[in-house]
Amino acid sequence: MLTPPNPPAPRGPFVTFVGAGPGAAQHLTLGAYHALQGADLIIHDRLVGPEVLALIPVHIPRIDVGKEGFGKQAAQADINAALIAHASTGAHVARLKGGDTGIFGRLDEEISALEGAGIAYAIQPGLTAASVAAAAIGQSLTQRGRNAALRIVTGHDMAGFADQDWRGLAQRGEVAAIYMGKKSARFIQGRLMMQGAGADTPVTLVENVSRADQRIIACTLATFAANAAQLAGPAVILLGLAPRAATQHISHLQEAQA
Ligand code: SAH
Repeated sequence: MLTPPNPPAPRGPFVTFVGAGPGAAQHLTLGAYHALQGADLIIHDRLVGPEVLALIPVHIPRIDVGKEGFGKQAAQADINAALIAHASTGAHVARLKGGDTGIFGRLDEEISALEGAGIAYAIQPGLTAASVAAAAIGQSLTQRGRNAALRIVTGHDMAGFADQDWRGLAQRGEVAAIYMGKKSARFIQGRLMMQGAGADTPVTLVENVSRADQRIIACTLATFAANAAQLAGPAVILLGLAPRAATQHISHLQEAQA
């Protein structure tokens, strides 16, 4: 028997984790869209863009756990408790997160809480900020002959500035998408330089990816921390990537000098 493409969620307490993508409505998957339409309640993060929130039917109540009532940023335990409390009434809860649900989204903590309470769940993944940022600068995240691996790293973890394999990341041709890296930009810059990364290594900052106020700042390892300090919105730092137009411009310059 053929399974329908979007089988309805079973009756009773149920949570669907939904990835909202980085901002634009066009980056929401159809599966995510349907999960939102079919929810009784939506619990969302601060990073979910207004375009996606506007797609939620007005009769569906929504709780912003990135805002007041829950404090500036809700404690994870409070979010877990809210998920369980609402789903336990028999409601279908959509837990809407920015980008992809499985990248720096604390998905496992929430799943564990649901499992502990015996509540069923499903996951609708989303486009992560790095994918959409790379597309915005006309680059791919991997490239034959340049990088056979992509690292997705955080600048910040529970202990503060996150330690990474700086030595590996400092190699020419490496590509990393650094999330939550604004505050730790100077630390990252210092660690990479210490490991011998070239000061001219391309770095592109993409702020407010796929939103009306998206900004692309093309710089180098030498200048990126100063540029990161100017950012106000969420940003992805693409280490080892320059916007394609800039790459072409640089190769023209080199040709002219040759
Ligand atoms: N789950 C998200 C990441 C959440 S961690 C995803 O897959 O995209 C939060 C970090 O993600 C931010 O500090 C920033 O580095 C990045 N981020 C999320 N949304 C973004 C956006 N619209 N523009 C730029 N960076 C974004």
